[in-house]
Amino acid sequence: MTHSKTTSALHLFVCLTLFNSCAREKNNISFDGTWIDLSYTYDTQTPYWPTAEGFQLDTVFEGMTAGGYYYSAYQFQSAEHGGTHIDAPVHFAQGKQTVDEIPLDKLTGDAIVIDVKDSVSDYIDYQINVSDIENWEKENGRIKDGTIVLLRTGLVNFGQTK
Ligand SMILES: [Zn+2]
Repeated sequence: MTHSKTTSALHLFVCLTLFNSCAREKNNISFDGTWIDLSYTYDTQTPYWPTAEGFQLDTVFEGMTAGGYYYSAYQFQSAEHGGTHIDAPVHFAQGKQTVDEIPLDKLTGDAIVIDVKDSVSDYIDYQINVSDIENWEKENGRIKDGTIVLLRTGLVNFGQTK
């Protein structure tokens, strides 16, 4: 039983490694920048669309088993639209791409950060507008086509509340 689980884990690792190699060759993705982790904890404090059910985490098992080894497993349920997430084109356009159909090279690439945290700090309902983008371009030059634009609002400093 234990040997079988180990074999399955190794098989999965090999598949993921091969997949990554193939994906890089197929999409010709190169990288010489800095990876930035944009994730936040997904839990009961994560904001969701008001009509959606929130996050629920259940413990299946956590602790020492009768076999004498530690084991933990959980299950969770969550609405699609909560916290920081990606909305596929199909969200509002029938027949368009679902998240799994979006090519990886569309989700990685050169990025810029437009910092509006001072404006948000002054007025929490501040709406980012064209002048924020124009001001960034005045200081840094025109944004190249295909550039990923990240907006730093600083809202994380106000806590993740519903
Ligand atoms: Zn959404």
